[in-house]
Amino acid sequence: MHNRRDFIKNTSLMMGGALVLPSLDLNIFRRSGTTMPSSKLKLTFKPYTLELRHVFTIAASSRSTTPVMLTEIEFNGIKGYGEASMPPYLGESQETAAAFLSRVNLEQFDNPFELEKILAYVDSVAPGNPAAKASVDIALHDLTGKIIGQPWYKIWGFEKEKTPVTTFTIGIDTPEVVRQKVKEAEEYKVLKIKLGRDTDREMVEAIRSVTDKPLTGDANQGWKDKQQALDMIHWLHERGMVMVEQPMSKEDPESNGWISERSPVPVIADEACQRLPDVIKAKGYYTGINIKLMKSTGMREAHKMLTLARALGMKVMLGCMTETSCAISAAAQLSPMVDFADLDGALLISNDIFEGTTVVDGKVVLADGPGIGVKKIK
Ligand code: MG
Repeated sequence: MHNRRDFIKNTSLMMGGALVLPSLDLNIFRRSGTTMPSSKLKLTFKPYTLELRHVFTIAASSRSTTPVMLTEIEFNGIKGYGEASMPPYLGESQETAAAFLSRVNLEQFDNPFELEKILAYVDSVAPGNPAAKASVDIALHDLTGKIIGQPWYKIWGFEKEKTPVTTFTIGIDTPEVVRQKVKEAEEYKVLKIKLGRDTDREMVEAIRSVTDKPLTGDANQGWKDKQQALDMIHWLHERGMVMVEQPMSKEDPESNGWISERSPVPVIADEACQRLPDVIKAKGYYTGINIKLMKSTGMREAHKMLTLARALGMKVMLGCMTETSCAISAAAQLSPMVDFADLDGALLISNDIFEGTTVVDGKVVLADGPGIGVKKIK
């Protein structure tokens, strides 16, 4: 601990009060004369299963648990935490993540600040596996932030006060259960609804019978006809919907583009926008993009997507899977810069093992701790 304090003090000597990323002097540890832990990056991981508070239903499936993989990267006695959340419909699993992570050899690196080099290597280990890759990226960001003693939102130059309100998802259910869920969601200022079923209107009427809060909608590609989708968007807009995600198949940019042009609310690409090159592909077909760490391979590429989308004049939404406060706190570092946030993933589970970013009175509140600002509580 003594070592670490000295190190942080040394590296966070700031120039004129501005934060400067240090050139990492690894000899600080060596000179200290006390026991020096490994100066290689060491990655470990273990599976964990999230229990959902409510059975979660979207257009494609229902489930009551989410498999995740928890990662740690240790360097000189400091630990960074990461997480891969893998809802089954996205194709990754604890097995695929374990297989991928066993192939990731971080011990070849001795400077955790070489994020660009390390993460390019991680991306090259195998194609796909975006959540497993994100679990390494998040742990590395947490680690480096902890070494310099600063949270990433500060390193990126964002203002803590500018965090948005988060939506809270009301899953598809019977009108009675929907009304109950809306009451339980009293704290949240904007409700998100999953669309794309025959019962959509019934569900919205059930919500409107108990609240007039703004709604966001997510069709998850569930609408099959562009005119019907647009009619539905108009109907929903008249009932207070302020934004809609992925109306039709990601394979059909033309229909989504036709809808975006005519829609009274922003149309956001989610399934159609996974990684950085997809931002350019989405331009012209969607009003904005939904960035999720589990699609983008983590914080570094997510930050690039945010920057690119802004440069292209697009709206930005920040989303999540059901995940612990670890991955949520990582995503939240970007939240001061987004138009819409959907960061309720940790609120939907009953066995979180981290504390970090919270939601207070519906608004995302970043923790002050360095890195991604999380503490392990179990
Ligand atoms: Mg979505």
